[in-house]
Amino acid sequence: MNSDPRSLSFEPLSPLSFLDRAAAVHGSRIAVVDGDRRWTYAEFRDRCRRLAGALAPLAEGRPVAILAPNTHVMLEAAHGVPWAGAPLVTINTRLSADEVIYILEHSESAVLLHDPQLDELVTTVVDRMAQPPRLVRAGPGDGGSYENLLAEATPMGIAPADERSLLSINYTSGTTGRPKGVMYHHRGAYLQALAMVAHTGLTASSAYLWTVPMFHCNGWTFPWAVTAAGAKHVCLPKVDAAVAWRLIREDAVTHLCGAPAVLSMLVNAPEAPDRHAGSDVIRFVIGGAPASPSLLAAADNMGIDVTQVYGLTETYGPAMLCDWHPEWSKLPTEDRSRLRARQGVANFVGLTARVVGTDGRDVPADGATMGEILLRGNNLMLGYFKDEAATIAAAPDGWFRSGDLGVLHPDGYLELRDRSKDVIISGGENITSIEVEQAIASHPAVLEVAVVGAPDDRWGEVPVAFVVLRPAAKASEQDIVDHVRSRLARFKVPKRVVFGELPRTSTGKIQKHVLREREWAGRARRIA
Ligand code: AMP
Repeated sequence: MNSDPRSLSFEPLSPLSFLDRAAAVHGSRIAVVDGDRRWTYAEFRDRCRRLAGALAPLAEGRPVAILAPNTHVMLEAAHGVPWAGAPLVTINTRLSADEVIYILEHSESAVLLHDPQLDELVTTVVDRMAQPPRLVRAGPGDGGSYENLLAEATPMGIAPADERSLLSINYTSGTTGRPKGVMYHHRGAYLQALAMVAHTGLTASSAYLWTVPMFHCNGWTFPWAVTAAGAKHVCLPKVDAAVAWRLIREDAVTHLCGAPAVLSMLVNAPEAPDRHAGSDVIRFVIGGAPASPSLLAAADNMGIDVTQVYGLTETYGPAMLCDWHPEWSKLPTEDRSRLRARQGVANFVGLTARVVGTDGRDVPADGATMGEILLRGNNLMLGYFKDEAATIAAAPDGWFRSGDLGVLHPDGYLELRDRSKDVIISGGENITSIEVEQAIASHPAVLEVAVVGAPDDRWGEVPVAFVVLRPAAKASEQDIVDHVRSRLARFKVPKRVVFGELPRTSTGKIQKHVLREREWAGRARRIA
C-alpha cells in the first residue's frame, strides 16, 4: 500500500489505460471492424492482453517490430506490445529490404510481427540478417497461427511505473541519409491522444476509418484516441477509394485522417457522392504535406469538414491545427479555403509555436516575414534512439527545430511557406534527397548527382535527379532508375533523370535551390 498522500493525485499517464476504461464502460459495443470480422471492446482488450502474454517471453523487454497494413493486428500491437513491457517499432511497409534491415538492427528488435502479404520482403530481410528477430506471422492468410497464439496465451498487461518510459520508436527519414528512431513515451502519447479526441470531436458515436498508415507516428496516436472515446475503429488495409466510400456508408464513418493525396483520391473518385448525405458530417483531418486551396474547396463543396493539422514524427503527428472559429463558416467559400489552408496554432498540449528568423529573433506577426517553426511542449519526443548528438542538434536550446519555414499572421495563426531541410514529401511520405543521391552515386558511371523535389499533381512532389556521368562512362535514365529501385523503396525512385552540368557557386558547391526553382518555374508556366 502506498501511504504517501500525494499518490492520491498521481498515476503515471499511459494511453493503455484508455483500453481498460473502454472495456469497462463500452465493453459490449463494437471496437474494431476489419472486413467481415468485428470485436467488442471487451474482446479487443482481451486480445491485446493475450498478445502481450504471448510476446513478453519472446521479447524479454526488447522492442517488437511490426510490418503490416492497417489491420486489426496493428491495433492490437499498439496496445499488446507495450503491455508486454516492450517498445513498439512500426515499420513502413513500402521500404526496401535494406531499409527494413537497418531499422531492425538499429532498434535491436527481438521479434518481428508481420502480415502474410509481406512474406516475400520478410524472407529477403531474414536471409540477409546475421541475427534475425523471431518471426510471428499475423493476419489474413496466416492459416490461423495468430489466433492460436492468442488462444494459448495467458493474458497480461504491464502498466509503466514511469510515465516517461519508452512506448514506441518511430523511424523517420530526417535530413541525413539514415532514418532516425523517434522515441515516444507513455505520457506524451496519452496527452496527444486526448488532444486529438477533443480537437476532432471524437465521441462514443464516432466511427474512424483507418486511412492514415499506423506505421506513421503510430497513426498520429489515433489507435489510443479512438479507443479513449469508445468510438469504432474501421480498418482499411489498402487505401482504395471505392472500398473507402463503401465503408463510409456501411459503417457510418464520421472521422478520417490523411495526407492531401488521400483526400484528393476520395474527392475525385467516381464513387464520390455529389454531396455527402450521411446522417453525420464527415470530418477529414488533413496533414503531412501542403494541401491546395482548390482541394480544400472541392471537399468543402462535397460537405466534408476539413481540418488542417501540421506536425512531424517528432511531435507524435499533429502538433498544430487550424482551430476553426465558428464565425468563419459564414464567410464565402474562397475566404473559408484561404483560412483553412493555414496550419494554425498549437494543440492543447503543446506550447505556442514560435517562428524565428535567421537572426534568432521571433518574426513579427505580419503574415509576410518568414522564419523557421520552433516547437516545444508535452507532445515532443524523448529524443532520437541511440543518437544523442542528433537529439541535441534538433533542440539545442529546448526548442525543436522543425526545418519548416512559415509566417505568423496577425491573429497568431501560422502558415507554412517552405522548407529549409532537404526533404521531399511525396504523397505524405518523406524522402531525404541525400539518401536518393547516395543510391545514385553508388552507380559506377555516376560522377555527381543532385536530387530535388519537383511539383506533381497527384503526389504533390516527386524526386527528380540531375546527374553528371564520369568521362567516357555511359548510363541511361533507365539504368539509373533500375539501380535506385534495387536499393530503395519505390516511392523514392526518381521520376526523371536529367543528364548534364550542375549549377554551382563560385566555390564549386552545387546550387540545389537553382534546380528546384527551375522545376517549380516550369510548373508556373504550365499553369499560366
Ligand atoms: P513526418 O515526420 O514524416 O511526419 O513529416 C513531417 C513534415 O511533413 C513536416 O516537417 C512538414 O514539412 C510536412 N508537413 C506536415 N504537415 C503539413 C501540412 N499541414 N502542410 C504542409 N506540410 C506539412
